[in-house]
Amino acid sequence: MKIAISYPYFMSVLTTYIDDMCEISKAIPDVRRGKNCHYSMQDIIMGGFSVFFMQNPSWLAYQKLLENQHHQTNVNTLFHCEKIASDNHIRNILDKINPSQFDSMYNLILNDLREKGYLEKFKVLGNKTLISVDGTTFFQSNEICCGKCLHKYHKKTDEYEFSHMMLGLSITSTYSKEVIPLAPIFVANSDLSESERKNNTLLKQNSEYKAFKFFCENDFSRIESLNPVIVGDALFGREPIIALLNDHSNANFIFSCKPGSNKTVYDFVDNGDLCTYKTIKRVKSNVKEEWIYEWLNNIPLTNSQTPLRVNYISLTITQSPNAEQIKKLEKKARKKSNYKTYENFLITKKFDFITDIDVSEENIEELIACGRSRWSLENEFNSLKTRGYNFEHNYGHGKLNLSNVIATFILLSFLMHTAASLTDELYNLAKNEFSNRKYFFHSLFLLTQIFIFSDFSSIFNVIIGNKSCNIYNDSS
Ligand SMILES: [Zn+2]
Repeated sequence: MKIAISYPYFMSVLTTYIDDMCEISKAIPDVRRGKNCHYSMQDIIMGGFSVFFMQNPSWLAYQKLLENQHHQTNVNTLFHCEKIASDNHIRNILDKINPSQFDSMYNLILNDLREKGYLEKFKVLGNKTLISVDGTTFFQSNEICCGKCLHKYHKKTDEYEFSHMMLGLSITSTYSKEVIPLAPIFVANSDLSESERKNNTLLKQNSEYKAFKFFCENDFSRIESLNPVIVGDALFGREPIIALLNDHSNANFIFSCKPGSNKTVYDFVDNGDLCTYKTIKRVKSNVKEEWIYEWLNNIPLTNSQTPLRVNYISLTITQSPNAEQIKKLEKKARKKSNYKTYENFLITKKFDFITDIDVSEENIEELIACGRSRWSLENEFNSLKTRGYNFEHNYGHGKLNLSNVIATFILLSFLMHTAASLTDELYNLAKNEFSNRKYFFHSLFLLTQIFIFSDFSSIFNVIIGNKSCNIYNDSS
């Protein structure tokens, strides 16, 4: 049972990405000590990766059924595995692999997007690239733990909660909803002090802060050529991080700003002569919105003797509602502290940031849009957790690296599918045959349960009904 393809025939970029992933797998040193090397490292790594790429935990089990019937499977053809190892064996070996060994895969895809000119679509503020930074937890348990788990102490019950967290770094843009993840930084328990581990509120904040500081000190060179503008929440807008970023001449930042964490900035803003630019932005449901941009350049970040200086930017969105809408909004306003009356308008949203980029009437709108693009990263985390990638699903935890390796496989699968949707006409033609992505992935799973395909291009050609594709049964 095979799909035979005759030309003309469209190629999918996924075929290349999977080949690249195989090369990386081959180069990873064998972690086994004994003689049990029936499966190659490539069999184990690509077999494990295929489960997340196909977005189905039962994928390997169904391929084993095909193997019993036809002595060949899509794991052989699509993912270049000679044999299919058992789930337990795959978990045991992956647990011993450092996930950073897959970092080069992120770079290969990024370079592919750059060479094809797609990174240009993500450029902002001239020739700069937004790198949004945020932490996310992808595993939590009161019982299961490994050597890399973060320990969260619950005083009430005198129990620890175990979790895994990573600092995500992703290219975002004001012009695209797509997000391109870069290699994340996994936060390890050993990075934190005993008191930080015992303090619930500090654990997440300190984990993110320390991970990003580590990145700025040790690993920043991998994004330097992108002319990065780091976008993050107020947690990162502290002097040590800003000083580190100032050391990189082509790096900039836009961090959220809050009265609670940036008191000196707000002292100057409250007493300073703010530049203002107002615009009537849009009318939604007969409600007129006014967008008020304000900024103040060159103000001290802290009240120290030699403070770093930053620029303050702000957007206030106000509405001019009718009487009935005023009632509704005021009711809503009473529930939320950031809803206040402002002249004859109602303030509905306010966004404050600090940046090192000089602000003027020419760039204020784009700067604010860049700051707000950070929320695309939250959408990415949301996609990973809820849209088929099952980021928080427990596929097994291991003793050391398994949880982080699985998170890496999920993130790389997301990146490959995202890059394909940006650049690959065949992939999009196939995906657009379905009303939503869930059905698309379901069809990939169903087709590969029945037929054996030579590569991903073959599957997509069949989905789009390419007449040059023939299906034949090799047992006939
Ligand atoms: Zn763990």
